[in-house]
Amino acid sequence: MFFHLFTTTECNLECKYCFGEALEDTVGDFGFDVDYGLPRHIVYNMDYLKRFCSLDPEPVLIFYGGEPLLYAEGIRRIMDHVIAKHFLIQTNGLLLDRLEPRYVNRFTAILVSLDGDESLTDFYRGKGVHRKVIENLKLVRSRGFRGEIIARMTVMEQTDIYKQVLWLLQNEVFPFSSVHWQINAGFWSHDFERRGFAEWSKSNYTPGIIRLAEFWVNTMERKGIVLRLYPFLGITHSLLSGEEKCGLRCGAGWMNYSIQTDGTIIPCPAMWGIRKYYLGHIKSSHPLRLPKISVGEPCISCRIYGLCGGRCLYANITKRWNSAAYRLVCETVENTIEAIKAQLPIIKTLIKAGKIRIEDFNFMKYNGCEIIP
Ligand code: SF4
Ligand code: SF4
Repeated sequence: MFFHLFTTTECNLECKYCFGEALEDTVGDFGFDVDYGLPRHIVYNMDYLKRFCSLDPEPVLIFYGGEPLLYAEGIRRIMDHVIAKHFLIQTNGLLLDRLEPRYVNRFTAILVSLDGDESLTDFYRGKGVHRKVIENLKLVRSRGFRGEIIARMTVMEQTDIYKQVLWLLQNEVFPFSSVHWQINAGFWSHDFERRGFAEWSKSNYTPGIIRLAEFWVNTMERKGIVLRLYPFLGITHSLLSGEEKCGLRCGAGWMNYSIQTDGTIIPCPAMWGIRKYYLGHIKSSHPLRLPKISVGEPCISCRIYGLCGGRCLYANITKRWNSAAYRLVCETVENTIEAIKAQLPIIKTLIKAGKIRIEDFNFMKYNGCEIIP
């Protein structure tokens, strides 16, 4: 089982799509009873986490926040005392230089928030962020980190998806081989009306994804390499393997749970504090017997539910965008699936010819990449 561990609720950035949106989203009733008084960093007894993880033969722990490295002491304590099959971290990357290599080098993967090139990343995340993150990634590599580094983009109207993914893959300062992106959609209640999501998704995102899928397969043809573009990997893997019902692809509420700073277990990191979805506590719960939470309508009756999986449990439950607005998000999912289906005959031919292998599409499921953007 996979667990996101909140080490802290604090963050050292004020990104436009997170802090900035929260500031503008103060009007109206969220509709849920939310505990806003969570401890700033881990306060539970480490023995509780040890006990909890010992009941799972293969626990995978993903450090998360806020910015998890703001409470690096918690990371050290956990890595020193708790046995896990894998440790991963989802970080903004700014403090990676402060964690000793003997811990960093044990991560199976580092998921680092980066939105593309310097001007776009700094526009969303703050001046100087891009430079520092790239510096830190070079540093951890030079200090011996050999695991996967996944650029984790948040995308919205200022993002040219094709251009920015290509920058991440092809830049000369720190080319990535693994990229994941997530659309900022359905997270806030009042942003759809003030944003230009509808126009952007049609004029930029949709054609950009089609071009990206072509580029992805073209790279397979030319170089025999399957680039780890997670949103493409997940869908293609299902299509190749004949998987008919993938389940919610991020795993939230059934394969991936989150543990708050007070030890309470919730289905997904975005659902912190929502008391209705408190599923247990690491002191007494069994990791393999947690309640399962699944998406409801409109996903259950959706034609492509088997391949999409429902996209996002948080968005499905909280319904912060109205159904017409959310329909536009679903159209982006349909487009991504169609873009990959259009390339599938070429992919199959390449596999048959031995140019690439079906195993090249394997990936660690539920590792923190949501897969469906
Ligand atoms: S496309 Fe939309 S409605 Fe269909 S399963 Fe995905 S999120 Fe749900
Ligand atoms: S996709 Fe939605 S449900 Fe899944 S982890 Fe992200 S916010 Fe949570």
